[in-house]
Amino acid sequence: MENEFEVGEALAKKLDNDDPLADFPSKFYIPENTIYMNGNSLGLLPKKGEKTLLRVLEEWKTVGVKGWVNIEQPWFFFAEKLGEKAASLVGAKPSEVIATGTTTINIHSLISTFYEPVGKKTKILADVLNFPTDIYALQSQVKLKGLDPKENLILVESENGRFLEEETIIDAMTEEIAIILLPSALFRSGQLLDMKYLTEEAHKRGILIGWDCSHSVGVVPHYFDEWGVDFAIWCSYKYLNAGPGASAFLYVNEKHFNKEAALSGWFGYVKEKQFEMNLHFEQAKNAGGWQISSPSILGSAALEGALDLILEAGIDEIREKSLKMTSYMIFLVDELLSKEPYIFSVGTPREEERRGGHVALEHKEAYKIHEELLKKNVVHDFRPPNIVRITPSALYNTYAEIWEVISIIKNLFD
Ligand SMILES: *Cc1c(COP(=O)(O)O)cnc(C)c1O
Repeated sequence: MENEFEVGEALAKKLDNDDPLADFPSKFYIPENTIYMNGNSLGLLPKKGEKTLLRVLEEWKTVGVKGWVNIEQPWFFFAEKLGEKAASLVGAKPSEVIATGTTTINIHSLISTFYEPVGKKTKILADVLNFPTDIYALQSQVKLKGLDPKENLILVESENGRFLEEETIIDAMTEEIAIILLPSALFRSGQLLDMKYLTEEAHKRGILIGWDCSHSVGVVPHYFDEWGVDFAIWCSYKYLNAGPGASAFLYVNEKHFNKEAALSGWFGYVKEKQFEMNLHFEQAKNAGGWQISSPSILGSAALEGALDLILEAGIDEIREKSLKMTSYMIFLVDELLSKEPYIFSVGTPREEERRGGHVALEHKEAYKIHEELLKKNVVHDFRPPNIVRITPSALYNTYAEIWEVISIIKNLFD
């Protein structure tokens, strides 16, 4: 890998020339005079997403309530249609994926369904490096079962504050664990956990396991069915580019379709009979059974075009380019920024199979560097205490931009 790259703008230009996804930046709205490397926080608007959003607005404008059923692509089936489109990104059957709710709500919905403390098996296993909202949700789920989170929510520790070791997680899979929720990729370091291995190890011990893939869907291929994952959730405003607060997704493995949703609502009803308005709830026998409310049609309208664009690019091609971009960035940091006076270190795994879509640059003056980079219109983010987080998007960034960002950082010191 190392030999593939060299320092200098010429290589960046060559990589862009040879890039099979070179057309894709023109399919996005990129803020003017900006290098936007923050797609793991909020992805940019794809022109296709704008188109589907405007189509839905036009439908509302022109036909009103008829939009639910009496148009070419009725809103009534929109959540299912988006689930179908997203299924191939996560290795699922169309019936196992639904666009619904928001991430934290979906965690509540699925954990309340699958967390069934009985006998000795009363605990949830999670980790200290997950995105805090997941932990807040798990704490309240434990309380809702009348239990104490201090005893029943076990958080796997990290040795260095950056990474989690799969073996440490497996050691924590004791006979008291009822269910596990883990992030696919850690939001600070970008470490990608071995979802297949951990799923298998959980199942060997009779433990259910779910994944929060907010930091990986759209940039890393997933194979939920093949791995036997029980359930998963993910947001759609990061690597899926569906817009701020857009509808999220949930996945339920078909082996659980007969399970009763803990938080039911009328949109989880058997589709063909929903409007019979019975007081007895009859749950749809697919992931749609976990819907609660009317789907946010405006909140998922851009998602349709955004998913189409990702499918057009191909998730394997996206992963390949994303890894090449992050490898290139790591190479440049090693070559140009690791020694005095720069002293950056890379807080992201160097092994490709353990890396998500971003690079965490660690520096003791990270906050100051973050502020200076913002002044130079390099959009990225800071994660306390010492991380400058940079996410080159395979869809709308170039290798030349990576070269430029590293040069800008170097110039701050020179
Ligand atoms: C982004 C992200 C969320 C966001 O939660 P919302 O409910 O959409 O605000 C949750 N969990 C993880 C792991 C995330 O990366």
